Amino acid sequence: MEKISVAVRFRPPTPTAVDPSSDRIWKVEDNRISLHWPLGTPISGVSFAFDYVFDQSYSNTMVYDPLIKSIIRAAINGFNGTAFAYGQTSSGKTFTMNGSEEDPGIIPLAVKDVFSTIEMTTDREFLIRVSYMEIYNEEINDLLTLGNQKLPIHESLERGIYVAGLREEIVNSSEQVIELLKLGEENRHFGETNMNARSSRSHTIFRMVIESSARDSMESEDVSNAEAIRVSVLNLVDLAGSERIAKTGAGGARLKEGKHINKSLMILGNVINKLSESGKQRGHIPYRDSKLTRILQPALGGNSKTSIICTVAPEEVHIEESRGTLQFASRAK
Ligand code: ADP
Ligand code: MG
Repeated sequence: MEKISVAVRFRPPTPTAVDPSSDRIWKVEDNRISLHWPLGTPISGVSFAFDYVFDQSYSNTMVYDPLIKSIIRAAINGFNGTAFAYGQTSSGKTFTMNGSEEDPGIIPLAVKDVFSTIEMTTDREFLIRVSYMEIYNEEINDLLTLGNQKLPIHESLERGIYVAGLREEIVNSSEQVIELLKLGEENRHFGETNMNARSSRSHTIFRMVIESSARDSMESEDVSNAEAIRVSVLNLVDLAGSERIAKTGAGGARLKEGKHINKSLMILGNVINKLSESGKQRGHIPYRDSKLTRILQPALGGNSKTSIICTVAPEEVHIEESRGTLQFASRAK
């Protein structure tokens, strides 16, 4: 069983921040974070260590290289993999996963990496399929086909666990995938207003299925590389905002959304926590308790590689939420 890699990433403070000292509350030293608050006073006991800590000076590529690249390599070689961005709204999850024009995020970097790697792999032939879905209020919607909603999860012997009716597009180039991602982003924001930024209250899963077969296996020198067919699943997940609902003074629909989010993030935390325990003590893993963990089940645990990036907003107003995020990250270790 692979260890789960846990990283924490601080975004830069917003330029309009009232308090210019806000970026000095959290101190980062190597892979350790401590809280100094009120300003300059280290709080004993509030110190965390992770596999990686990225301060605001890290670009998406600098996050991708140590944390995600090996997952992509493994996926091309037939192992499942999953990477998550977890954190409160506005902490940098979508920036980390999608990025910007100047600083492409983990998804476009992974897509480019997959295509450039398979181009160099001359002894195997590849078939790549992508899908893009959201889970909103415990319902699965297809982001590549507007109106393709409330899709059920099925399980069969040949296919394993799958989302029935989800569009899966066969793709031949990274440009083609980037176009599909744009389409998915538009659909993700469809009908959204500022007051109702639904995209921050849904989980989105971008999935690549990488299938390969040995070319001319009779002539292949490398026996280990000659197995007939390999299929792997790679999930890149932008989770719903982890903030507590009470803070937003929510009622009605907001409250319902918040409950679904809190519950599914809690179950995700439980699953990851169980997976990080050693085999014997582990016992039952509650994959079935939420749609998110059910969909991800084949690529979480077992031989899969998993990374979690917990994004943190550095400002003083966010201290409580940030502590919650670091606690989630600590439980995943
Ligand atoms: P979330 O998806 O967690 O709600 P966003 O990714 O939308 O948060 O980030 C909130 C804002 O902060 C956006 O304007 C985004 O461009 C900016 N931002 C987040 N992380 C970074 C970063 N590492 N570097 C520069 N800008 C960032
Ligand atoms: Mg977002």
